[in-house]
Amino acid sequence: MADVVLRNISKRFGAIEAVRELSLTINDGEFMVLLGPSGAGKTTTLRLITGLESPDAGSVMINGRDVTHEAPGSRDIAFVFQQYSLYPHLTVYDNLAFPLRSPAHRVPEPLIRKRVEQTAELLHIGSKLNNRATRLSGGEMQRVAIGRALVRDPAIYLMDEPLSSLDAKLRAELRLELKRIQRELGATILYVTHDQVEAMTMASRIGVIRDGQLLQLGTPREIYEDPSSLYVASRLGTPQINVLPARLLSDVPVPPGTETVGIRTEHLQIGPRNGGQMVGRVHRVEHLGEQNHVHLDYRGEMLVTLADPHQPLQTGQEVELHLMHPLCFDHAGQRIPAMIH
Ligand code: ATP
Repeated sequence: MADVVLRNISKRFGAIEAVRELSLTINDGEFMVLLGPSGAGKTTTLRLITGLESPDAGSVMINGRDVTHEAPGSRDIAFVFQQYSLYPHLTVYDNLAFPLRSPAHRVPEPLIRKRVEQTAELLHIGSKLNNRATRLSGGEMQRVAIGRALVRDPAIYLMDEPLSSLDAKLRAELRLELKRIQRELGATILYVTHDQVEAMTMASRIGVIRDGQLLQLGTPREIYEDPSSLYVASRLGTPQINVLPARLLSDVPVPPGTETVGIRTEHLQIGPRNGGQMVGRVHRVEHLGEQNHVHLDYRGEMLVTLADPHQPLQTGQEVELHLMHPLCFDHAGQRIPAMIH
């Protein structure tokens, strides 16, 4: 496989700056996930790497070679799209073989058979090779679509929300499979999504992107535990991080300049009233089986935390809030490092 280096790439469509001075290195064998909302510039970034778009500025290097001005065909990239684009009249076998049969590749037929069978095995669709592509479930179709990229053994795989059209169960299953396959092949993957669970579970590193800009790059753990801004903090974590104006805190020391605190569920414990100054009222309790989400009214702000389902809590009950190491942010939403005690 190969590494990919983007240097200061920018792309504008009329008044819209789809990608802004984005720099990113995807290391050989890495599973990089770009996480961002709709319109963040994720697809445009992938299209710039493939050469389907050309950047207004900046460069794209693949394995040390500057490909910025090369045609898409010469870049040795496989792309998996959000909507699986299979040939409906062909069998699974022929769909998988198709990329290898292109005149550009000239792969001998016995080698094609070997690659197709290996790929089908890897994706657990070995028994479906003779099925027409239309006679498959959605999950199987998406496996074939992914397989069409895998047969080729390219320098890098680019994946544009390939699981988003599947139901939750299949998504969970294919997340695991994709991660396994990536490990087995040692593949270099750039995967874009707006789904934080996909990013957290599959990525070796996550790049958080918004308005065409890369806001932070790090391992899932770094991004979750050490976000650079309130925006990044709010992209990861379920329930979403609680945001509280710092002026509403009592007896919780925060560094100077703190305007808001970000409180994840693990930063907030509740207990019976016992003389502490932060008192909230239980607004609602959601039972989720193994845990409860407790919605609290604290001085007019809603906070959510987790509680043991066996902890007796009544709506309207007053509870004491205990904050442990919340994240602190300035007026612009930028992170302020915690004070050393
Ligand atoms: P989604 O998750 O919805 O696919 P995205 O993060 O992939 O979003 P892009 O498709 O890269 O976002 O689009 C980024 C911005 O550029 C958007 O505002 C979009 O409307 C705009 N854009 C993308 N392609 C074009 C184009 N060919 N012409 C004009 N504007 C475009």
